[in-house]
Amino acid sequence: MTDDATAAPLCLARPLSAPDVDSAACAVARGVDGRPLHAAALKFFWGPMDCGKSTMALQMNYNHARQGRRGLVTTRIDRSMGPQVTTRIGLAHTAIEVTDDLDLRALVRDARDDGVRVDYLICDEASFYGVEHVEQMAELVDRHDVDVYAFGLATDFRSQLFPAARRLFELADEVARIQVEVLCWCGREGLLNARVVDGRVVREGEQVVIGDTVDTARVRYQVLCRRHHRTGDLGDR
Ligand SMILES: [Zn+2]
Repeated sequence: MTDDATAAPLCLARPLSAPDVDSAACAVARGVDGRPLHAAALKFFWGPMDCGKSTMALQMNYNHARQGRRGLVTTRIDRSMGPQVTTRIGLAHTAIEVTDDLDLRALVRDARDDGVRVDYLICDEASFYGVEHVEQMAELVDRHDVDVYAFGLATDFRSQLFPAARRLFELADEVARIQVEVLCWCGREGLLNARVVDGRVVREGEQVVIGDTVDTARVRYQVLCRRHHRTGDLGDR
């Protein structure tokens, strides 16, 4: 990245108390306590299926847009299988599909080159992104003053972290579990996504396999409590 816009936010990476910081050369506006008035952040919101991640992503986009901010919405493997974010409660928004070779930094740079302001990114289904996409998110925050709000699952059907989710836990300024309760059939809080193939919980296979949440699908996903995820007990369904 060589554009001049990277110069000012780079000051944020320096320790503020270091004697070599030249505050006059740093264009970041500061409050009375010396902290930056606006410091972009990388935030990761996570939770199991059906907890309202995509709904929250679209709500956040709406809230920021109402305040006059401009952002881009990205997704990967949305349930609609189209370039949009859809929610189980009926909301939808066009989105940019994140492919393996998409560079989020280039996405923002190209938008800005076209005269489109980009204050933030809403990254839905972020656990399906590549680890390199998470690195790009961090760079957008640190060097380009773009807020990045990522939403996704933490763990896969084996209850193991998705690589991108792991990287988000490692790098994010803020991590928040979405507080919409999803219940297991037993009434306990649902924590984990089980993959159900022909009516049985499976524990081996590709990390990402498209399924559904309806009972009739051959491959489907069901949220279970830890106890029933471990025993593979689907209850009476
Ligand atoms: Zn249970």
